[in-house]
This record gives sequence, C-alpha cells and structure tokens, in this order.
Amino acid sequence: MPVMPRPSILSVEPYVGGESKVPGVNRIVKLSSNEGPFGPPPAAIEAIAKAAQEAHRYPDGSAKGLREAIGAYHGLDPARIVVGNGSDELLALIILAYGGEGTELVMSAHGFLMYELTGRWAGCQIIKVPEKNLTTDVDGLIAACGPRTRLVMLANPNNPTGSLLPQSEVNRLRASLREDILLVLDSAYAEYVEAPDYDPGQALVDAGGNTVMTRTFSKVWGLGGMRLGWCYAPAAIIDVLNRVRGPFNVSAPAMAAGIAALAERDWVAKSVAHNTEWRARMTQGLTKLGLTVHPSHGNFLLTDFGSAEAAKAADAHLRSRGLIVRGVGSYALPTCLRITIGTAEECQMVLDAMADRPNG
Ligand SMILES: *Cc1c(COP(=O)(O)O)cnc(C)c1O
Repeated sequence: MPVMPRPSILSVEPYVGGESKVPGVNRIVKLSSNEGPFGPPPAAIEAIAKAAQEAHRYPDGSAKGLREAIGAYHGLDPARIVVGNGSDELLALIILAYGGEGTELVMSAHGFLMYELTGRWAGCQIIKVPEKNLTTDVDGLIAACGPRTRLVMLANPNNPTGSLLPQSEVNRLRASLREDILLVLDSAYAEYVEAPDYDPGQALVDAGGNTVMTRTFSKVWGLGGMRLGWCYAPAAIIDVLNRVRGPFNVSAPAMAAGIAALAERDWVAKSVAHNTEWRARMTQGLTKLGLTVHPSHGNFLLTDFGSAEAAKAADAHLRSRGLIVRGVGSYALPTCLRITIGTAEECQMVLDAMADRPNG
C-alpha cells in the first residue's frame, strides 16, 4: 500500500502556469503570465551576475538589506516586512499558519486560484462568493463568514478579472469582519492602479486590524524568474511567518536583484505609463472588433469572446502567430482569454491577429 498524504492534499489540482511554447512557431510572444514587457531592470541583471560570484555562500537569512531597501522605498518599518520566494510562498505560509482543518477560507468566485489550491493543502474549507459584474461582492464576503472562518483572501486589483474594489469597499470589508479573521490583501498589481485613494494595504495594516499586505517583484519589476515577493503585517504575524518560513527562503541573487531594481527610480513610472497607454489602446481596439473587454486596473485584459468555442478558436488563431495568451477556464471563465499588455509591437500584433481572425 502506498503511503498517503493528508486527504485534502489529493483534492489540490496542480497549478498550471501560462504557457511559453508553440510547436513549429519560431518567434513566441508570451502574454500569458502578466510579466512586465521590458525584461528585468538593467541594474538587476548586473546585480544577479555579480551575486553569481558568491553562489557558494548561503544568503542572508534575515534579508536585512532587502527589507531595508523595501522599507525605504515604501516608507515602511523593515521589521514589519518578511520576504518570500515569490509572494506565492508568503500566501501559502499565511494560509498554512492561520488556516487548516476545521477552518474556512473565504474568497471571491473568480479570485486568484492559488488561494484555493493552498487552502486545500492546508485542509481549509474553501468558500467562494459569487461576484457582481465580475467584481468582488463585499456584502457577499461578509455574509459568507461564519464562526469557523479564519481567512479572507482578496486580490485588489484581482487577477484574472482586472477589477478593482473602491477603497471605501475594502475599508468597509475590514471594518465588518470579526477581529479574529485575517484579511489578506494581495496587491500584486498595486503599481498599475490609478485610483487616487487606492491603498495597497499599508494603511489598513497600520490601522491595527488583522490585515496583511502581500506584494511581488514579478509583475511591474520584471523579476518573475527570480521568485521574489514580500509582505507587510502586524508584528505578531511577522513573528509567526519568521517561525515557519525556511531559514534561507530567498536566494542571494534574488535579493540583490530586488535591491538593485528598487534603485532604478524611473522604472515603475515608465512601465506604468506604457501600461496605461496600451491598456487603453488595446481595450479600444478589441472593443472595436466587437469583443467585450472588462475594465482592467492591472497589466492584462480579460477579454470575452461570447462563447467557449469562440475563445478557443481565437486562442488557436493567436497561437498560430506565436502569440500565447491565457485561457481562464480554470477560473470558471471559459468564454474569456486573459491577455497581458506587452510591448507596443506585441500589443499591435495581438490587435492585428484579432482583426483578421476567422469569422472575426
Ligand atoms: C502573479 C500573482 C501573484 C504571485 O506572484 P509571485 O510573487 O510571482 O509568487 C500573486 N497574486 C496574484 C493575484 C498574482 O497575479
């Protein structure tokens, strides 16, 4: 008889990331994982190469330099920051530490899939709350919380829908949750948001409620391959995460890359300006072609083709030109594709391909 894991683990479907290859096509344009289109910041590439010289040394397990750099950049106390092997690692540690058998994890119906996958690993019961207009329904989340709820997971903006909850709604959510429910604000796309009153989570964490903010270097910073994320949380939660994380959970090249990236002062402004421009141009272009494009506050567009067949056909047509986007059937959105905002040329390639798709 084989050894068996805890039963809930066999209900976890392996996460399938955005694809990166099409057989027989030479030039591939990968628009399937919301990676920044400009590559890593040049200073980060240099820092990674330099760190290679010291690859025989264990990294600084306290991540002091990186936490100080993040703290200085965002105006946060470095002691209240924990860094992780991607924000995915931190989300997992949080869910495993605060969830578990006999508890419930509440999330939005089209919320980020990793919450459900890790929640099952932890043994949580997953409660998915229907959305309104592909946007998180705060009243629904509040109503879904019961005595066993320990975690409410919210990506804002959300992936894959691109929708943004107004700050007043996020604040109302926190204020309406019991104090012993941890609100996890996943702000992976924070940099792209333009709403003037948007708080990626810092203010709510500081307000003292049980709120955690997670952030990533994988999107606007162009460092997805380095696996680097961080979180900001009340001291008691930081203490828990420092107990359960691996002692060397972030590699030295990743930390060096993060520090160097933060020093590139106009990187975010340049990337965001490009994103804002092309998000609007792509939205307009795809809409003109008769497609429904959901308003996006991130670096991607959830585009609805009206039927699962039409979405599949569009996907195949894009692929034939080397353009890889993301099917979102696993998010219960089978009629849609999620398209990352690429370079100007890449965006134009998508618009051109869509303009002459069969039966388009
Ligand atoms: C990309 C993404 C993450 C994960 O980022 P990593 O830091 O690369 O692990 C987390 N949450 C959301 C909503 C994302 O889209």
